[in-house]
Amino acid sequence: MTIRPNRSDPDSVRDATWAVHGGNAPDPGTGALRTPLVMANSYVLPEDPSTIDWSDTEGLVYTRNGGVNQIALERKLAAMEGGEAAAVFASGVAALHAVFFTLLKSGDHVVVSDVGYEAVWRLFSELLPERYGIEATFVDVSDPAAVRAALRPETRMIHVETIANPTTQVADIRGLADIAHEVGAIFTVDSTFTPPPFYRPLYDGADLVIHSLTKYINGHGDALGGAVIGDAGLVDRVRRDALVDVGGVISPFNAWLILRGSVTLPLRLQQHFASATTIARLLDADPRIAFVAYPGLSNHPDHEVATRQFVGRGYGGMLAFALDGDADLQNTFVSQLGVITSAFSLGHDESLIVHVGTETRGGAENYPEAFRRFGHLRLSVGLEDVDDLVADITTALERTLG
Ligand SMILES: *Cc1c(COP(=O)(O)O)cnc(C)c1O
Repeated sequence: MTIRPNRSDPDSVRDATWAVHGGNAPDPGTGALRTPLVMANSYVLPEDPSTIDWSDTEGLVYTRNGGVNQIALERKLAAMEGGEAAAVFASGVAALHAVFFTLLKSGDHVVVSDVGYEAVWRLFSELLPERYGIEATFVDVSDPAAVRAALRPETRMIHVETIANPTTQVADIRGLADIAHEVGAIFTVDSTFTPPPFYRPLYDGADLVIHSLTKYINGHGDALGGAVIGDAGLVDRVRRDALVDVGGVISPFNAWLILRGSVTLPLRLQQHFASATTIARLLDADPRIAFVAYPGLSNHPDHEVATRQFVGRGYGGMLAFALDGDADLQNTFVSQLGVITSAFSLGHDESLIVHVGTETRGGAENYPEAFRRFGHLRLSVGLEDVDDLVADITTALERTLG
């Protein structure tokens, strides 16, 4: 181990050191150690601008093509994830769409996890097939035979989430990468629930990693953003086609906020994970709870995959559970919580809970049986003192069920 971080190698120092130093560069204009916030749409042109490529993403010309704060965040994220390059977008969904838009064309086929993010479900079940002739097959990605059976000669991509939102199914990234690469497909992985240094899918064969930066990487619930990280050639194509010509560009201010938030990620993850484990065990031991899905519990169907894949770094900060009762009972419980807030999003400092409707969520018919029977509550365990979270849940259960 070297004392100074090797700027291209996350393994040159320990995780917390890398999160602080990886990808940093002093500001060339001022020498400031922190990249200043540059709220500019455009940059000074050379004397003869007629030779400039208006789609260029290398030089600083126009903020839709790239700006000081985007570039600083991209450098940081590529470093943290151990990728060659990164491109940042206005939201996680903009980053996902950018990957699909750039790398797929009409007639192509995609294999997609049958549990996962709502927008991805809608893109592949409706929008991309109907408007652009891109076919998709939704499969249970925990079953390698089912994934293989879904492949076609025109399969160009396999897309999964490391830990699925909201069911917490854990995908075997190495196994799926091998299947994708046997048939020359690109393997894209949404790693929003498993940000670095917790897990680095590129090390296990993913071609591109996608993050909603809105969640753990920013971590403070005050900015939306998305990222695509991986092979420089692929990232450049995504940037050129989808950033410059579709335009889902992140605000410099949001890029600045997210970079600021990202530095404490290893420290924050430790607390998210420790508290999630405590709460999962508490709920699992309570007979009034119908089920708990948390990959760290030995009764989780993917516990072994998670243990092997995440090599002792934890099991995430997200869990799903339901009280033994109907939808009204779940809502009553949520209404009794005082510390934990009912709201969308996740990965905040604040603990957030949402009652996910079985009727309204795309692909819910593929959720495990217990999810369909009881509906479920998705809990993002935050950074409050865990004793207060435990007390909040215990009191709300008492008030709801006696
Ligand atoms: C939130 C989320 C997204 C979308 O991110 P936004 O920043 O809200 O657009 C994509 N994938 C997963 C797994 C998410 O949790």
